[in-house]
Amino acid sequence: MKNPQVTPLISEAEIKARMKTLAKEIAASMGNEVMVISLLKGSFMFTADLIRALHAEGVKAQVDFITLSSYGKGTTSSGTVTVSRGISEDVSGKSVLIVDDILESGRTIDFARKLVSDAKHVKVAVLLEKPGKLAVEIKADFIGFTIPDKFVVGYGLDYANSYREIPFVGVLSSAA
Ligand code: 5GP
Ligand code: MG
Repeated sequence: MKNPQVTPLISEAEIKARMKTLAKEIAASMGNEVMVISLLKGSFMFTADLIRALHAEGVKAQVDFITLSSYGKGTTSSGTVTVSRGISEDVSGKSVLIVDDILESGRTIDFARKLVSDAKHVKVAVLLEKPGKLAVEIKADFIGFTIPDKFVVGYGLDYANSYREIPFVGVLSSAA
């Protein structure tokens, strides 16, 4: 085991299979052109896999990245969302898909939605959802997996900017 402190929760194979079905759901609901707004850093791996899965479903995806942050270096949200890199593409009149790693309090996605208010339609895809922790009225349209209330890392998700390269999602035992 390369990372004994990370207990696997969702395997690479499960993630891969879910990408296909998620892309089918998105294609069925959004049509064949989307403007993906990916929230860095946590969703970079998910975004890369999702747009390739969308391609397989015949969906063209333009991509932009924004960086919002609410966690700092800890494992609990600070409650304040700040923008460190804003939107650089024109989203007006486009079908926007906001892509994030985890929906927890909903503050990050709520904030991101306000940055794309010129879009024609806005839908939200998250890799993971931790239910019961919403602080604002937000719902994701597409959810990869629902997980228990544990701090997870891997597949792009970090703890103090480490563990992002792990190809599966796991629970970090030492930080819990
Ligand atoms: P929200 O604004 O919905 O409370 O928080 C969502 C953001 O918090 C996610 O985009 C993610 O960056 C971070 N986050 C929430 N839970 C976890 C977790 O279990 N692990 C990691 N690495 N980040 C998390
Ligand atoms: Mg995030």
